[in-house]
Amino acid sequence: MKYGNPDQLAGWIRRIFVGEKLSMNLTRGIPRLWAGLGLVIAAGACATNPYTERGQLLLVSTDYEMQLGAQAYQEVLKDPKVRLSQDPKEVDPVRRVADRIIAAAKRSKYAETAQRFDWQVSVIKDDKTKNAFALPGGKVAVYTGIFPIAKNEAGLAAIMGHEVTHALARHGAERMSQGILAQAGLIGAAIGLQTQRAGSETSRAVMAAVGLGTQVGVLLPYSREHESEADYIGMLLAAQAGYDPQEAVHVWERMERAGGGQPPELLSTHPSHGTRIQQLEEWMPEALSLYAQASKAPQAPDLPR
Ligand SMILES: [Zn+2]
Repeated sequence: MKYGNPDQLAGWIRRIFVGEKLSMNLTRGIPRLWAGLGLVIAAGACATNPYTERGQLLLVSTDYEMQLGAQAYQEVLKDPKVRLSQDPKEVDPVRRVADRIIAAAKRSKYAETAQRFDWQVSVIKDDKTKNAFALPGGKVAVYTGIFPIAKNEAGLAAIMGHEVTHALARHGAERMSQGILAQAGLIGAAIGLQTQRAGSETSRAVMAAVGLGTQVGVLLPYSREHESEADYIGMLLAAQAGYDPQEAVHVWERMERAGGGQPPELLSTHPSHGTRIQQLEEWMPEALSLYAQASKAPQAPDLPR
């Protein structure tokens, strides 16, 4: 899933920093923008990931992020091309795994966030799409095309743990925050050029370059750092939910083999195959010790394919 375009970002800036209207007079508007930005950062916009202790810049509130997540989810579900599966053979395993993953999240270091989410899980009937996602607020979707890669419920738990982590760790809000900063920089650049009264080719070229940087930054899929974090925390969540974390390694192996064509979320900007497996093996002892303490998920048949 992509989060919006520069137009939407401009909307976010409007709402977050200057209320209803961003003054069209940039020279007047910009001090308010920077004042707003300063306030937000001073108000503690920097969070620390409770698992990895990575510092995160979060300029967007959880409520606002959840609202965006719910909106985007509705848009996906009401797309006429999207057909929801009603087949219990497809829906039941997803439901079972989701229930356990969500319950584990509510006992995890993300307990507070997981309690606050308005969880929703859908199975999209599309055997060609090898993908799954979780949007801010706990809006989860699994495409039936991922079943051969997940293979079994432990594999599905590895995938769902990964996706749910993006939402719990607020990776989307982080990307939006980076976009807001980039957009603020863009406006700053405009001011600079305006004060120089340079409507020249040079200034236009500079603006184009800054704009391109903003777009690339915003429209990019999750960063490699986010992907590793989702792998790690997702693996721990799956183990706490009672699924053998060793299945994660097999999932990524199957994923790698199935790759090609349009990269699914799970393969986008991912660490290289070797690095991913190596990292999973490094985290395995911690995951296995959680799995040993967890109440195990009941045996279930392999997923339909
Ligand atoms: Zn991911």
